Order: sequence, then C-alpha cells, then structure tokens
Amino acid sequence: MTGYQSSPLPRRRSVGVDVGGVTVGGGAPVVVQSMTNTDTADVDGTVAQVAALAKAGSEIVRITVDRDESAAAVPRIRERLERLGLDVPLVGDFHYIGHKLLADHPACAEALAKYRINPGNVGFKEKKDRQFGAIVETAIRYGKPVRIGVNWGSLDQELLTALMDENQAAGAPLTADEVTREAIVRSALLSAQAAEEIGLPRDRIILSAKVSRVQDLVAVYTALAGRSDHALHLGLTEAGMGSKGIVASSAAMGILLQQGIGDTIRVSLTPEPNGDRTREVQVAQELLQTMGFRQFVPVVAACPGCGRTTSTVFQELAQNIQADLRRNMPLWRDKYPGVEELKVAVMGCIVNGPGESKHADIGISLPGTGETPSAPVFIDGRKAATLRGADIAAEFEKMVADYIEA
Ligand code: SF4
Repeated sequence: MTGYQSSPLPRRRSVGVDVGGVTVGGGAPVVVQSMTNTDTADVDGTVAQVAALAKAGSEIVRITVDRDESAAAVPRIRERLERLGLDVPLVGDFHYIGHKLLADHPACAEALAKYRINPGNVGFKEKKDRQFGAIVETAIRYGKPVRIGVNWGSLDQELLTALMDENQAAGAPLTADEVTREAIVRSALLSAQAAEEIGLPRDRIILSAKVSRVQDLVAVYTALAGRSDHALHLGLTEAGMGSKGIVASSAAMGILLQQGIGDTIRVSLTPEPNGDRTREVQVAQELLQTMGFRQFVPVVAACPGCGRTTSTVFQELAQNIQADLRRNMPLWRDKYPGVEELKVAVMGCIVNGPGESKHADIGISLPGTGETPSAPVFIDGRKAATLRGADIAAEFEKMVADYIEA
C-alpha cells in the first residue's frame, strides 16, 4: 500500500537566531516560550512568575518593559534569577517608548536577551523611522537580536491606508481582509528590511505577525514563510480562555507546524481565575509533543472510559500519574536522560487494556465491570505482575517510579 503521508513537511529553512543561548530557527527544535503578566517593576512577583514558567518548561520568557520603573527592575530580575540558578533568556516587550527606555537604562539593554519591537506603535512618519532605528542601533551595540512583532490590533495605519488606496486604484482586486493580511505581512517584511539596512544582521531578526483568527494566522504566516527566510515566532493573539483558546491556538499553529512553518511558539491564553500562568507552557509543550516534534514529558495513554467500567479508579490513576510525571520532570531530566520518552498506559478494562499496555513501557489494565478484580501490569511488553485489592493505584504508581529509577 502506498500514499500515506506519515510525517510533516520538511521544516522551512530559516536563519537561526541565538536568543541568550537558545537557538530559534536554523533547523533547531521548535522553542517554547511564554510571557509574564506581572508588573515588571514588581521584582519579587516577576521573578516568581518567570521562575514558575521556566520550571514548567518555558525556554524563553518575555516581560513587559513599559516605563522607567520596569526598565530599572530588569537587571535586578536577571540577577535574582541567576541566583536561583535559572538562566532562562528574558525578552523585553517594548511599545511606544522602547527607544527611550533602552537609551536611558543601559543595564536593562544589557540584561535582556532580545528586544521585541512593534512596528505599529513605534511612532509615525519620520519619528517612526528615527525611533525604530534607535532600537535597532541599541540592539547592534549590545549584540542582541530583535523580534519584529506585528500585531493586527496595532497595525501600522499609514501602511494599511496606503495599501487600501493602492487596492482601490487597481479596481479593488483584494477584499478588505486580504488587504489587511497583506499589510500585516508587508509591515513585518519592510521593518526587517529597514533593520538590515541599518546594520542588524539577519541572524539577529525574528519575525512574528499575530492575528486572532485561525484562518488569518494560517494565511499570514504562509505568506510570510514564502517571502522570507527569517526565523518565525508563531502565536495566535487574543486566543481566548480555556478550551476555546487551546483549540484555536492548536488548530492554527498545528496547521503551520505540519507545513514546516514556525521556529518558536507561544500559546497566549487568558489566565485562569487561579492565575496559573504555566498552563500556556503546558499547552505549547503538549502541542509539539502530540505532533511528534519534541518530547517533553512521558506520555500517559489512558482510555476514555465507557459503560464497561463504572469505576473512576483508572481516571484518577491516569491523572495522578500524569501529574506526578510532570511535577518530577525538572528533577528527572538531568538524573534520568531519556525519561521524557517513557510511555505509560492506564486502561479501563480488558477490551483494549492488555494490548495498549503491552505497547507501553509500563502499563496497567484495570478491571472493568463484571471482570475479575485483578489488574495485570505489563513492563516492556511482558506481564510483570497482577495487582489486586484496594491499593492497586498506589502500587502501580510505585511500580512506575521504580521503573524510572531502574
Ligand atoms: Fe471502555 Fe475498556 Fe475501551 Fe476503556 S478499554 S474505553 S473501559 S472498552
């Protein structure tokens, strides 16, 4: 049989960019990044959140630098993180007065691993060129890369108007949405060109063009990927809360990643009421892992359950195992190289239980309704034990821990 495409398209060739020791693009694995939502001037709060994001697996963390107080806090945050043994690169997110903040706070310019510029709000007309140029010159002086981050919500209005007029004069071949998409792409490409003309090399430029609709994101990044070889940062902006944000981000970025487009991703989720910001890192990792691009945590295969099992033991067991594995990963990563490749199966009954468990490194098939109350455990494809009684879950969790140790 032929004709099955079993893998994504080859990765688009992009110029690699070193962001504080983490390579983005140039064939490097797709990087997971995130952003804090603390007031950067609050050093304690920001250090705590950056640390939580980094420990959850964020390989780059962006922080807002919006005023003098936050710019002054950046070197202190960097220092505190280093004292905690965390070397995660920090990116400064600048809007409106980035040129001034970087000029007035050289220690901030030095402490950051990358500057994010939004060409849509860096100024107007000659002022825009001057202020954009000032940030690029600072990046050249300090040897830092920049991300030229276009966002449809703050799109360069001069450029959009010019393209609308151009489209009108040509008899309106493009729809208003298509003109907006073109303006987004053109804003990124023209800004990159301007930065290169000032002297910033291409291996220090990353592009992004964030929009909030899935089809727009796919269209814009596909165009951007076809018209440049800059490293690309993917992200759906204002993706939304909970499952809506997760599905929208995964759908949009999944399509692009499958086409080989994207060198770093950020999943932007409206924070949960409990304020846990690490969820976006977990979703980004799961997206890359589910698609087979990277492996971050051991996989727990669990059946969905059905009428053949009335017990919730297997659901709780699957959740506990997944939570334990995730929690222990920062510790295990160095101690047990390759642990992220582990596959654990937790199945609800005999129908698919033994088969799935045999395919895992370690798996358990719990007893379904009406079955003998015993749970065979398979290790490396062979039946290794049969658990019985009230402590099946605890015993299996211990067996997983022992397996990892072994
Ligand atoms: Fe239902 Fe058993 Fe399949 Fe789980 S393994 S979904 S309990 S039939």
